Amino acid sequence: MFIVKQLYDLQLLDWDIQEREQKLADIQERLADDSKRISAKQRVDRIAARLTDLGTPRRQHEGAIQQIESRIGNIDKRIFSGMVTNARELEAFEEEKANLQRQHSDEEDSLLEILVEIEELQADDIQAKQTFESINSDRESEIIELQSNEATLDEELPDLYDQRNDMAAEYPPIALATYDMVKKRRGGQAVALVERGACLGCRLTLPTHELQKVRTTQEIVQCSSCTRILVIA
Ligand SMILES: [Zn+2]
Repeated sequence: MFIVKQLYDLQLLDWDIQEREQKLADIQERLADDSKRISAKQRVDRIAARLTDLGTPRRQHEGAIQQIESRIGNIDKRIFSGMVTNARELEAFEEEKANLQRQHSDEEDSLLEILVEIEELQADDIQAKQTFESINSDRESEIIELQSNEATLDEELPDLYDQRNDMAAEYPPIALATYDMVKKRRGGQAVALVERGACLGCRLTLPTHELQKVRTTQEIVQCSSCTRILVIA
């Protein structure tokens, strides 16, 4: 024979199922979220790309400096060869040399700026790679653990669904319908235990006649305040 207390067993089973379903959903959400690892990898890639980008201007400035130095060398050779005797020609060479030296100094400043940035990026690169490695290895262990927990839940849940179906099949349809309706309306809790004359669902003391009815009948008695199905603890 069906007794109302069995609805409390159903509620415990439903809570158990719900808790596991929630855990499974959390696990699946965490498995899908690879954002931390992706953003660490993106940082490594951004630094590498910037280092590559700096290669071209670096080579250009280095090439320009070499060219300027060789032109200055040629002018010096001409000046010190003793072949240039004309004062105006000599002056023109000196002027060109001074001009080249200014260019040389500008090129060196630009190159230095790039070299400083490269040095900073190389330090960032080491640090970003270490961070990525650590996040990556943590994530790999996390995935193994999450997948193992997921597999356990995937195995447990079907058994619980079977148990629930078996249990529900034995209950009178009207009892189940009441249970489902109150469960929906009362935040997933259809059954409330009665302890020291109070409904533990809403914490209110039950009127004497209501309490009496729960104690003596086999009918479903609902709390007059929160409508939950009352079961003596
Ligand atoms: Zn109540």
